[in-house]
Amino acid sequence: MTEQLQRILPTVQKPARYVGGEYGQVIKSKQEVDVRVAFCFPDTYEIGMSNIGMRILYGVMNDMPGVWCERVFTPWGDMEAQMRRHALPLYALESKDPVKEFDLIAFTVGYEMSYTNILNMLNLAGVPLRAKDRKGLKNLVFAGGACMYNPEPLADFLDFVSLGEGEEITKEILQLYRKAKLEDWEKEEFLRAVAQIPGVYVPSFYEPVYQEDGTLQAIVPNPSAPKTVLKRIVKDLDSAYYPTDTLVPSMEIVHDRTNVEVFRGCIRGCRFCQAGFCYRPVRAKSAQVLYHQAVASLESSGNDEITLSSLSTSDYKELDVFADKMLDYCIPRKIKLSLPSLRADNFSRELMLKLRKSGRSSLTFAPEAGTQRLRDAINKNVTEEEILTTCRIAFSGGWNAVKLYFMLGLPTETDEDVLGIAELVWKIIKEWKAYGSEKKRGLSINLSTAFFVPKPFTPFQWEAQITPEEYMRRVHLLQSAIKTKMVDYRYHGPELSRLEAVLARGDRRLGAVLEEAVKNGARLDSWEEYFRNDIWMEAFASCGLDPNFYACREFGKEEVFPWQTISIGLRREFFWHEREKAYQSLTTSDCRTQCAGCGANSLCPGGVCDA
Ligand code: SF4
Ligand code: SF4
Repeated sequence: MTEQLQRILPTVQKPARYVGGEYGQVIKSKQEVDVRVAFCFPDTYEIGMSNIGMRILYGVMNDMPGVWCERVFTPWGDMEAQMRRHALPLYALESKDPVKEFDLIAFTVGYEMSYTNILNMLNLAGVPLRAKDRKGLKNLVFAGGACMYNPEPLADFLDFVSLGEGEEITKEILQLYRKAKLEDWEKEEFLRAVAQIPGVYVPSFYEPVYQEDGTLQAIVPNPSAPKTVLKRIVKDLDSAYYPTDTLVPSMEIVHDRTNVEVFRGCIRGCRFCQAGFCYRPVRAKSAQVLYHQAVASLESSGNDEITLSSLSTSDYKELDVFADKMLDYCIPRKIKLSLPSLRADNFSRELMLKLRKSGRSSLTFAPEAGTQRLRDAINKNVTEEEILTTCRIAFSGGWNAVKLYFMLGLPTETDEDVLGIAELVWKIIKEWKAYGSEKKRGLSINLSTAFFVPKPFTPFQWEAQITPEEYMRRVHLLQSAIKTKMVDYRYHGPELSRLEAVLARGDRRLGAVLEEAVKNGARLDSWEEYFRNDIWMEAFASCGLDPNFYACREFGKEEVFPWQTISIGLRREFFWHEREKAYQSLTTSDCRTQCAGCGANSLCPGGVCDA
C-alpha cells in the first residue's frame, strides 16, 4: 500500500472499500503478464462486488495466461476528495497500480445514472476523457453491459463497445490486443481490426447526420465498419465459464451471498422491459450443472445464503427438482435459499412451503400496474385473481410481509389505473384479514412505484415519458388513496427517472452535457445524497439541448434511432406490432406457450428457441 493511501484511509468512511486483499482475489506476477486490464465498475465497491457479470468476467480474463485483470470501483465522495487533495490517482485494488498504467480500461455499465462516474473515474485516473485525445494502444477504453445497447451518449469517450454477453467476445478482444501490442500497431489499425470481431462497435467509425428538427437523418458508417453490429450470446450455458472459486468481500456488500445464475433471457415479453428483450433467447443451465456450481460456490465462499438469479426464476423448467435437491443440501447446513423474481402466476403452495422452510420472510411481487386493462397493455400476464390467490396461500402459510412494485406513467395509464393500485392493495389486506395465520405480528406492505422510463429495444421505445410534474400528480393521487399504516409507500424521484430516459434514448450530442455536468460536480447520481438535478439542467442549457426532446417526446414510427446501428437480433416490426397491441390492450403469449416471431430464434442453434 502506498504511503499516501495509508495516510488517507483512516480519514474516510468504510476504508475496506479501497484496500483489496480479499480471499479469492487474483494476484499475478507482472513479469508473466503482457496484457493488463483495469476492470472498472462505475459505482461503489458494495454495488460492484454484488454484480454477477463482473465476477464472471473477472474470472474469464484472469483465466487467460498472460492477462491480469484487476478491479476498480468508484470512490465515495470523501475518498475522492482525499485522493484529489493528495494527488493520488485512481488505482486498481489488486496491485494498487494507477489505472493509467494499464493497457485496457474496461467498464461494465448497467445503469444510465452511472455515466458521470465513468467520466469522473477517467478524470481521477488522469486519462483523457475523449477517445480522440488518447493516442496509441495504451489506455484503450471500452465498455459492455446492459446500457451499451445504446452507447451513444458515451460514444465520444469510448474507443469501442462490446455488445451482449462477454464470456467469449472478451477473450477475442484481449487476444487481438495482445497481437497488436506485440506487433506495435497504431491505435487506428487496432480499432479497424477489433471492429471486425462480431459484437464489437467502434463509435468513431460512424457519423451521425442530424435534421433541422434535431432528429437523426442517418448514421453513416465508414467503409471499414459493419452497417449493423449484432450482440453476442453464449449459446450453451452449461459449458460456459462460471466462477465457483469466488471473491469473498471483506466488508458487507449489497448482495452478500452466493449467487448462481439459473438461466439467461426471459420467456415473457413485458412491453416496458429492456432486459426481457435484450437477453433473448432463453438459455437455461441444467439442474445438474447448477447444483454442482451452487455447492462448489457455497463451499469455497463459506456463505450462509444462496440466491438463484435470473430475470424470472420461477419460469425455470427444473425449478422444483433443483429446489428440492438444493434444500436437502441447505437445510442441514442452515443455509438460506432465496428465489428473487417470482411471478404471482406460478407461485405454487409447494414452492412457498419450501422457501419458508429455508427461512424466507417476505413475499415480493411486481404487478407493475393496478388494473387488468393496463397489465394487459404492458403484457404483464398476471391476473388479479392470481395475485390474490398467491397472497392467500402465502398468508395462510404464515407470511406477513409483502413487497409490491408498480410503475406510474406507463403508456395508456389513466387515473383509474393509478387508483387501481390502491384498490389492489386493499384487496391484499382483505386477504390477510381473512386468511393470515400470524395476525399478532400484523401485516406489512412495502409499496413502491417507479417512474416509467422508455427504453431502446422495447415495444415502448417510441413512447413519450410523462413530465415530472404529471408524475408527481399521479403519486399524490395514489398517496391520497392509501390511508392505512400497514402500507409504507415509497416512490422514485421524477428528476432522476427523467434523466434516465434522456440517457437511455440519447444520441452522442449528450456527450457534451455529460462532460459539462461532471465538470460542475455531477457524480454518484444514483445516490440521493449526491444527485443534483440543477447541475444537469445547467449543463443541458449551456450545451443548448433540451432534456424533454429525448425523454418526453414521442419518437416517429420510422425515425432513425440513435441505437440504429446496433442489433439485438429482434426485428423492429415486431416491436412496433407489440406497441400497437398495447394500445388495444391485447396480450402476447409467452415464448413457451407460443412463439411470437420476434426474430431472436436466428441466434439459436438450428434457428429454434428452446424456451
Ligand atoms: S417477467 Fe417481464 S419484467 Fe420480468 S424480466 Fe421477464 S419480461 Fe422483464
Ligand atoms: S423467436 Fe419466438 S420463442 Fe424465440 S424469443 Fe422470439 S418470440 Fe420467443
